[in-house]
Amino acid sequence: MGEMSGKRMVVTGGSSGIGLETARQLVEAGAEVCLVARREEALARAVADIGGSTWSHACDVADESEVAGLKDALAARWHALEGLVNNAGIAPMAKLEDTDPETWDAAFSLNVRGPYLLCRSLLDLLTAGSSPAVVNVSSTLAERAIPGMAAYNSSKAALNQLTRSIALEWAPAIRVNAVMPAVVDTPIHSSRGITADQVSDMGRMHPLGRVGRPEDVADLIVFLLSERASWMTGAVVPIDGGMMAG
Ligand code: NDP
Repeated sequence: MGEMSGKRMVVTGGSSGIGLETARQLVEAGAEVCLVARREEALARAVADIGGSTWSHACDVADESEVAGLKDALAARWHALEGLVNNAGIAPMAKLEDTDPETWDAAFSLNVRGPYLLCRSLLDLLTAGSSPAVVNVSSTLAERAIPGMAAYNSSKAALNQLTRSIALEWAPAIRVNAVMPAVVDTPIHSSRGITADQVSDMGRMHPLGRVGRPEDVADLIVFLLSERASWMTGAVVPIDGGMMAG
């Protein structure tokens, strides 16, 4: 039996990149996983790819009524929840003067309001679960800002403080932690016009000499969800090839 056997988990952004790999590792460890994202076709591909007891629910996690629908679907199927991974995120790139209010709001809607809505809505289910835990996927940019990404940098900084705030409110019943990846090789970059070679070149910025793989981050998320992390809450943990050491 895997260490996640019998555990019921939700992974937002579970159809791609870090979320997809996290869901795969959770299922391999014995969990039942609900993948959440907006596009149904991508979700169906991910469910077929991972197999096991994976299922999906299409939902915009920044939309309050859609999150209420997700909660109903989870309550009807599971009645309780052991894990929530708030991973869905967007990373708009623009100088401040080119960041229109819609772009600013979109970053905060998905990267901060989404985790807030999910945590608030799923509290009852988490409370009913056995040793429940939440992991929020932040970014090193929350603490080491770079130019041209003010909306993203700020939204992830807010997510770090939301993580600590909920951890304090929900202790000792529910653990809440966050991970801060540096550059990870996922489709998020091609969606912003960054080529595979450019992503690979960014490896030079990391002391360990390469960009991250989704597996690197998923390993840490699974650890934080597991009983092995039972004395961790309110932690915001870098997983960054050494980037934040300098
Ligand atoms: P991807 O672009 O590969 O995947 C994003 C996922 O989020 C997709 O499943 C997408 O599906 C889903 N998603 C997007 N918008 C919404 C929404 N409104 N509601 C529900 N789901 C949504 O991203 P990554 O795997 O690269 O990133 C995952 C997380 O890691 C993000 O929070 C990102 O900020 C963070 N991160 C990534 C880094 C990197 O270098 N890759 C570095 C540091 C942090 P759909 O579009 O169908 O909704």
